[in-house]
Amino acid sequence: MNLKVKEIFYSLQGEGGRQGEASIFIRLSGCNLKCDFCDTDFSGGETMELTQILSVIRQYPCRWIIWTGGEPALQLTEEVIVFFEREGYSQAIESNGHYLLSNLLNYTVISPKGNPDYAKKINPSVDEVRLPVKKGDAIPGFGRLPKAKYYFLSPVFTDDILVTKENIDYCVEQVKQMPGWRLSLQIHKLINIE
Ligand code: SF4
Repeated sequence: MNLKVKEIFYSLQGEGGRQGEASIFIRLSGCNLKCDFCDTDFSGGETMELTQILSVIRQYPCRWIIWTGGEPALQLTEEVIVFFEREGYSQAIESNGHYLLSNLLNYTVISPKGNPDYAKKINPSVDEVRLPVKKGDAIPGFGRLPKAKYYFLSPVFTDDILVTKENIDYCVEQVKQMPGWRLSLQIHKLINIE
């Protein structure tokens, strides 16, 4: 079995319900969407056997994998999840929610893009819903979203610090008005780590 991998790196989870935990990020190539605010390069990459990936991640003392992308669910089969589970890894995924996520995963995060109604139909229940939000974006009601342990608003960070600040202020106000939400800042961008 092999996967097309854009990059593998070891860092801290910068956002959401596992924020601050050491994690091995495996970024898989490709995505089914083209969001205008996308800040991730998921093109190209290298085709790697699972055993090759394992030998790369074995160098780290951590046993948490975060499958990210692009859209990792395009490639992440249950055979792959079972392979790494047998090697002692817990596995999280960061997905746009367009594909059914395996219940073999240990932590599931959906960031619905655009109209979120599709996400609930495909994945009725996940661990975390995290919405990227720009100033003025409509925040969907909880009834339109998958059932989740955590609901996070994640202000979109831009190169313009004033715009970023406006996005943060907007999210703070939304959380105050709808307390079921929490604020998630992308601390990896604030402290300049991967
Ligand atoms: S779903 Fe995520 S990775 Fe894919 S284009 Fe949108 S922001 Fe980028």
